[in-house]
Amino acid sequence: MAEYDYDLFVIGAGSGGVRAARLAALSGARVAIAEEDRVGGTCVIRGCVPKKFMVYASEFSAMFKEAEGYGWSPITSKFDWKKFLDAKDVEIGRLSGIYASNLAKAGADLVHAKARLVDAHTVELVGKDKTVTAQTILIATGGWVSVPKELEGIEHAITSNEAFHLKELPKSIMVVGGGYIAVEFAGIFNGLGVDTTLVYRGPNILRGFDEDVRGHVSDEIEKRGIRLMVETQHERIEKTAKGVVNHMDNGVKCGTEVVMFATGRIPYVEGLGLEAAGVKLNDKGAVAVDEFSRTNVPNIYAVGDVTDRINLTPVAIREAVAFVQTVFGKKPTSFDHEMVATAVFSQPPVGCVGLTESEARHQHKKVDIYLARFRPMKEVFYGAQERVLMKLVVDGETDVILGCHIVGPEAPEMIQMAAIAIKMGVTKAQWDNTCALHPTMAEEIVTMREKHQPMGLSIA
Ligand code: NDP
Repeated sequence: MAEYDYDLFVIGAGSGGVRAARLAALSGARVAIAEEDRVGGTCVIRGCVPKKFMVYASEFSAMFKEAEGYGWSPITSKFDWKKFLDAKDVEIGRLSGIYASNLAKAGADLVHAKARLVDAHTVELVGKDKTVTAQTILIATGGWVSVPKELEGIEHAITSNEAFHLKELPKSIMVVGGGYIAVEFAGIFNGLGVDTTLVYRGPNILRGFDEDVRGHVSDEIEKRGIRLMVETQHERIEKTAKGVVNHMDNGVKCGTEVVMFATGRIPYVEGLGLEAAGVKLNDKGAVAVDEFSRTNVPNIYAVGDVTDRINLTPVAIREAVAFVQTVFGKKPTSFDHEMVATAVFSQPPVGCVGLTESEARHQHKKVDIYLARFRPMKEVFYGAQERVLMKLVVDGETDVILGCHIVGPEAPEMIQMAAIAIKMGVTKAQWDNTCALHPTMAEEIVTMREKHQPMGLSIA
């Protein structure tokens, strides 16, 4: 008789957990996976996937204007929020079902319960009056929204969790934060015709992104109608019959139907019993792991947002694959977190891979910058003022491309392709050797020959 009930017990059926459970089960391991919510995790249930549907829905208003510029009769159309939400929920339900059936097909047992560690090999299934044991445990519980709890009236604010299920589309909204979620949702609501204000506490949104990207996105979202308030924070939120009044620290009082806080996410470790099992957290409150996603307890591993390395779905999946190869494939494998491409689905969207200019200047002696800003032919045709930004950050000594940053239509699609070459260590000379494809926006990226001289910066 086996020493443990299972070879692997996975806590959390999101992108990382499901991939690990499936692959381990397919390799012949006896696997169970616990989920307290719907199968699919943040990405499928309340993140990337429903958000992208909302981005798609919100982009039509700009497309209708474009269509008129191309000779179509004025398009009069009305957005039906309820109809969209119903269709979105059907699709999310379908995807969640596929995740669950793939687990079943692989032979993994799915348990609908919160799991709490009792010790290094035992898990309590909360509310089920049951414990199970496993040789290896994988923590893949993801993250959860974080709001400033001390702010007076914060209980009247929503987060992205609720934004996916608002009964009515509000007439006005204030979105708080300057990161991925804030900028993406501001674009969504603005595109859907909601009077949208984006409030950020710092001087410029998208901290951590390349400075040119940050400036370009700020300019472009304002052109599209988002009211941007920087260096501003809430003093309090007051509930009113029509919504809320946002009392800001610059003296502004701004009434909106809804206020949404997108002020970051934290690792979801609450009630997990980590102390009982002896699992340590790092100074950011995330489960501390080594390069093989192993915690300080030798049989307990963790992948995805709960480890707060790079909080992106494909990263969680690759960490999970590496974990299964390490533990069940007996081939120690670590995922390389360098050169992971990322996108912000703002409007216009952002696609980036590699170093920002400022990171490159800190890490390399000589850095060359190639930069283009232009109006794409599609927009020029009907007189739109939107501009695209393309930027390459190059090691001036080796000619290796260190970073690529694009803001404009289809930037995320372009950056996925660019990331292949950049991850392979392409040089600027090899990049330029690639013949342009005409007429596209993307051709601009292989035709940037002149080094860019930023104002006030002498290029060594
Ligand atoms: P981010 O960490 O990206 O941004 C949080 C924002 O909130 C920052 O601008 C931060 O300001 C601000 N903030 C934090 N605390 C406060 C406060 N008390 N008052 C006012 N502002 C505050 O978090 P998100 O919630 O946007 O996203 C979480 C993570 O999810 C991302 O980092 C990303 O990894 C992932 N994600 C990825 C997406 C994608 O791939 N497209 C989409 C959505 C999420 P400051 O800059 O000053 O710290």
